[in-house]
Amino acid sequence: MKYHIWTIGCQMNKADSWHAAQELEAQGHVPTKRAEDADVVVLNTCVVRQSAEDKVYGRLSSLKPLKQHNPRAAIVVMGCLVEEDSATLQQRFPFVDLFLPPSDVQGLMSLVTDKWGDERSQTAATASPAPVSCHVPVMQGCNNFCTYCIVRLRRGRERSRPVDDIVEEVRCLVERGVREVTLLGQNVDAYGHDLTGQPDLADLLRAIHEVDDLWRIRFLTSHPNDMSDGIIEAVAELDKVCEHIELPVQAGHDLTLKRMGRRYTVDQYRRLVERMRDRVPGVALATDVIVGFPGETEDQFQATYELLAEQRFDVVHVAVYSPRPGTAAARLDDDIPQLEKERRRRSIEELQRHIATDINHELLDSITEILVEDKHKGKWRGRTRTHKLVFFEDDADWRGKLAKVDVTWAGPWSMQGKLKVTDPASESLPFS
Ligand code: SAM
Ligand code: SF4
Repeated sequence: MKYHIWTIGCQMNKADSWHAAQELEAQGHVPTKRAEDADVVVLNTCVVRQSAEDKVYGRLSSLKPLKQHNPRAAIVVMGCLVEEDSATLQQRFPFVDLFLPPSDVQGLMSLVTDKWGDERSQTAATASPAPVSCHVPVMQGCNNFCTYCIVRLRRGRERSRPVDDIVEEVRCLVERGVREVTLLGQNVDAYGHDLTGQPDLADLLRAIHEVDDLWRIRFLTSHPNDMSDGIIEAVAELDKVCEHIELPVQAGHDLTLKRMGRRYTVDQYRRLVERMRDRVPGVALATDVIVGFPGETEDQFQATYELLAEQRFDVVHVAVYSPRPGTAAARLDDDIPQLEKERRRRSIEELQRHIATDINHELLDSITEILVEDKHKGKWRGRTRTHKLVFFEDDADWRGKLAKVDVTWAGPWSMQGKLKVTDPASESLPFS
């Protein structure tokens, strides 16, 4: 059986698609680049903004003729497009065989086993090589009530996986060559609050830290209200946990934050960032911002702009507000004209381009350690502990190794460097 997976959206969707591919390949099924050649096409969808949803509908419509060429083909739609009751979707897209809730990889496997179970490849299945850096979902869902957000409506309440289960998965990944894991959750810093004994993210980080031959650990996304001192302490203490935290602020004005249902003030956020920077020197911070939220005045937007100028984050993901059906904010008047929303987005992007360039320039002529992930257009590509992308050239095989590079060029989104150690075999393990 040949399968094709199309993915759009967050890291969680990408991780789900990767896991689905692993399971399918473990059963002997093979990937194909073109949906037209596949027996099973999976669309892993996102509806966080209208633009993503439109892309999903476009892709879905393009699949309609698929069954004329291959009557046995199955089309599966999973991810945040799928509501609890999928009857309306089924009516609108009758050619879809199965609608699955987000992350329901087992649902996909049941369909495949039912239809193709006895047509597995007779040869031993070899899953495609594991990436150097891998995402591991550690919890699903969200207990917050951000008024603009549809994700919590589609992904349900928080459900954490047990610590042992996650540690075992990480161990297996490391045996397959993975050297870095990124723990995923909508609010990953709320991890464990729903588990018996209430282990928290700090406990999970400590348990994963014990896995031999794992070099780096990251986690995302964090919610400012759940970022405890215990978690900050774990980041500071544990060598393998990288100095890189994604902490969305969403807006820089208290009134906007209140109407967004974020339940913190700008000042509380500022003090949290200060604590993190004090305790974890050199920590790289990324944030998310929404511009053009209903009723956001020019002054309120300026407050966001000034917060970003003051805090100088390493990365800012800026999104134009998009009303989502069923959310509380969708009942508000979406009163900021689209052109004005775009102007605000561009203004923040421009600010951030300067800040990111300045931050990266500070690394010029310094030696930085990168974990090499793959080769891209003839150059090795890897990331620093602070998640900055660095490219370098060398003939040796650096995949999955730590390289020390001298940074020779720095732009806002990536850097170029010269290799310091020329023999990857002589390269030492981290912290030795
Ligand atoms: N849980 C994280 C948090 O607390 O911020 C982020 C999850 S959310 C799915 C990812 C990002 O999408 C958010 O940080 C927000 O900036 C953006 N986003 C969510 N809903 C949006 C909307 N209705 N319009 C525009 N951007 C939105
Ligand atoms: Fe959505 Fe807010 Fe939950 Fe993030 S914290 S997933 S933005 S409801």
